[in-house]
Amino acid sequence: MFDRVALIGLGLIGSSLARAMKRDGLAAEIVGAARSRETRETARSLGFIDRAEALPHEAARDADLVVLCTPVGALGAVMQAIGPELKPGAIVTDVGSVKAAVIEAVLPHMPDHAQFVPGHPIAGTEHSGPEAGFPELFENRWCILTPIAETDPGAVAKVRALWEAVGSNVEEMTPDHHDRVLAITSHLPHLIAYTIVGTASDLEEVTRSEVIKFSAAGFRDFTRLAASDPTMWRDVFLTNKDSTLELLGRFTEDLIALQRAIRWDDGEALHKHFSRTREIRRGIVEIGQDTDAPDFGRRTAEKSD
Ligand code: NAP
Repeated sequence: MFDRVALIGLGLIGSSLARAMKRDGLAAEIVGAARSRETRETARSLGFIDRAEALPHEAARDADLVVLCTPVGALGAVMQAIGPELKPGAIVTDVGSVKAAVIEAVLPHMPDHAQFVPGHPIAGTEHSGPEAGFPELFENRWCILTPIAETDPGAVAKVRALWEAVGSNVEEMTPDHHDRVLAITSHLPHLIAYTIVGTASDLEEVTRSEVIKFSAAGFRDFTRLAASDPTMWRDVFLTNKDSTLELLGRFTEDLIALQRAIRWDDGEALHKHFSRTREIRRGIVEIGQDTDAPDFGRRTAEKSD
């Protein structure tokens, strides 16, 4: 599919994509760039790249496809460094969790002879780094592309084909719409998880060991989200500020409505609300985006270990 692919950032997402591309023979050569020597050495020894470079522009030179896989806040500086090295016809895409701010940061540094196809695979785990990646990460997951007016349809088709080849379903939408959709499906849930886990650890009347011991009652499902990478999530909230704050306002109003229902013993309102939310969960299972096994399949997995 490509002669040379450069992956800038070799963490969970970059290393998963490299592993899938290697497994399926999608690139003749995969070059990776990471800041730290440790990451470069790990990537080399795990064998999912052919060559590791410390500087992004060294990796991007002569690449047909460059995939930006660093935290969102670093993408502008990375693009500024690689812009002058891009060969004519090169395609640049990214995997950042926010789209409008990324386009604003990247576009000024894109040379006219290259194409930018903004993207976001809706796949991940709470783990980071090159060892956390696995080639199946993108299978049966969505990848959203948010092409802009300047993007050549041929470049979009190539990036779409790449994500489909690693098992994803691809959908296109505008960058602003993406940021609103992800604010509710990903950014707000993470914020709530970060809050509740912080609240629990600050409690004085319940000991921290009790919180951990009895976590299967619901708390532990929040802890998975709240264990996500701090740098990545700091950047997401700082760059998707408007959509997150707008939804946080809506969420706070809804929370207060439930608070009022509890205070006034309004069981009917609570029951009606919880029945509606149960339907959402059923819908997610029905379209195959999660398992309906008890405990999200945890017990089944533990038994088969
Ligand atoms: P990660 O595991 O923490 O890896 C980040 C990589 O970027 C590392 O190789 C790191 O290099 C490099 N890096 C960090 N800061 C940098 C900087 N200032 N300049 C150059 N390189 C830098 O992160 P990830 O989970 O793969 O996330 C990468 C991107 O994917 C983010 O934009 C995120 O929004 C997006 N994304 C993440 C998920 C998810 O669930 N994790 C899902 C979809 C999309 P060192 O190792 O040398 O520090």
